[in-house]
Amino acid sequence: MTDSYIFKGLRKRLVEILKSKGISDEKVLNAILKIPRHIFMGKGFEKHAYKDSAFPIASNQTISQPYTVAFQTSLLDLKKTDKVLEVGTGSGYQAAVLSEIGVKLFTIERQRELYLSSKIILKNLGYSPYSYYGDGYKGLPTYAPFDKILITAGAKKIPEKLLEQLKIGGVMVAPIGERSSQDMLRITKIDDLKFKKENFGKFVFVPMLKGKN
Ligand code: SAH
Repeated sequence: MTDSYIFKGLRKRLVEILKSKGISDEKVLNAILKIPRHIFMGKGFEKHAYKDSAFPIASNQTISQPYTVAFQTSLLDLKKTDKVLEVGTGSGYQAAVLSEIGVKLFTIERQRELYLSSKIILKNLGYSPYSYYGDGYKGLPTYAPFDKILITAGAKKIPEKLLEQLKIGGVMVAPIGERSSQDMLRITKIDDLKFKKENFGKFVFVPMLKGKN
């Protein structure tokens, strides 16, 4: 599957839609303009790639809505020197956005099939984040602490171990709440015991599950 002028045109339109919905972070908009999202979708579904909506992928999971990817990424307020942990690699699209911005990315996925397929797609596009197959609730203690942590699945409670793996001054963006809908939280680690919590409203994600598959 290759890129084309048609897809490029559709991406330009998608970026305009995201701007009209309030996304203004140029780093994020440039990444979305550049990355061929259709390559992260199953064969035959390319035409859905540049609509601003989530879409089913393998293992009963979803590729997040472009607006959600852009919104979560903007909330992280990234610098190129940031060491970032993404929980829920899924299709790999969000990982591509983070890689394109230029951060040092670690990404973890509990579905083996997705861990494997996302790794190949990312590599073919020239991105090489550190990909792991495992349970994101445990994080990656060997590589901690992280400047930023991004959770792309809905958890009932803020995962404690991930807070521990955040640097002082670091930021975690995570959808937290019930299965039906979650609050988009941005948590800033003030010190080991003190956290600032901001709420950016309701979103719906597939659930963050324990263990691996
Ligand atoms: N960032 C992805 C979003 C995929 S949906 C994208 O851009 O496409 C969320 C993903 O989180 C799913 O693939 C799901 O399998 C994964 N997930 C859920 N619980 C997890 C956990 N405990 N550890 C790692 N990944 C998890």
